[in-house]
Amino acid sequence: AGPEALFRLENVVAGYGDVMVLRGVDLAVRPGEVVALLGANGAGKSTTCAVAAGDLPVTAGRVILDGVDVTSWPAHRRARAGVLLAPEGRGVFPGLTVDENLRTWLADPAPVYGRLPQLARRRGIAAGALSGGEQQLLTLAPALVRPPRVLIADEPSLGLAPLVVEQVFEVFAELRERGVALLLVEEKATSALELADTVVFMRLGRAIWTGPRAEVDGARLTAAYLGVA
Ligand code: ATP
Repeated sequence: AGPEALFRLENVVAGYGDVMVLRGVDLAVRPGEVVALLGANGAGKSTTCAVAAGDLPVTAGRVILDGVDVTSWPAHRRARAGVLLAPEGRGVFPGLTVDENLRTWLADPAPVYGRLPQLARRRGIAAGALSGGEQQLLTLAPALVRPPRVLIADEPSLGLAPLVVEQVFEVFAELRERGVALLLVEEKATSALELADTVVFMRLGRAIWTGPRAEVDGARLTAAYLGVA
């Protein structure tokens, strides 16, 4: 049944103050697997990302990385252990150039320029002047040079032009090839669904259906979004 899960949430309950949002979420991602976490607005997808990255504590349940219980680890410690949240986890410095941004993360940006020529062409431009899609590529670029073990991407295609979305997902595909465990969160089930190996539908703070992408058809999608899966 393939490799063991590298990263998992076990029966996670979490929320904000008195507001319970996650009501027992289970999900698992293996090395070289893309898991798409889908669901309507307010289902709890972003909250799941926050718990996974260590930005929000759990009320109950566990977060496991490579067999180690990291539930109590803060975000920076999880990041050092290879759990990367994109894009918010690593925003760009708007006042620095593309090249300067890359050099804050990498000794040598050359491999990035080889892989993402449009960043090479814009290396002298302030990151704040890039399009949203180019900024997205810039935040993902270091992952191509030093792949994380787990990459969590919250709405990576939100607000991006289709061509850039394609490039962003090419980066994800390459990271999958290299063994990264990817958790992609999307409200609209488009690019993430195409790339996914496994799909998890969320609704009202629960993972209501988990299965292989091949089992997701139009009827399943409609049912999941209407809450009758
Ligand atoms: P969206 O696509 O709208 O971000 P989502 O599936 O990612 O949806 P969450 O953002 O996790 O859902 O939100 C789930 C619930 O938690 C919503 O009811 C939302 O109002 C609530 N919520 C989110 N953030 C906070 C917060 N900081 N404080 C209080 N409630 C919050």
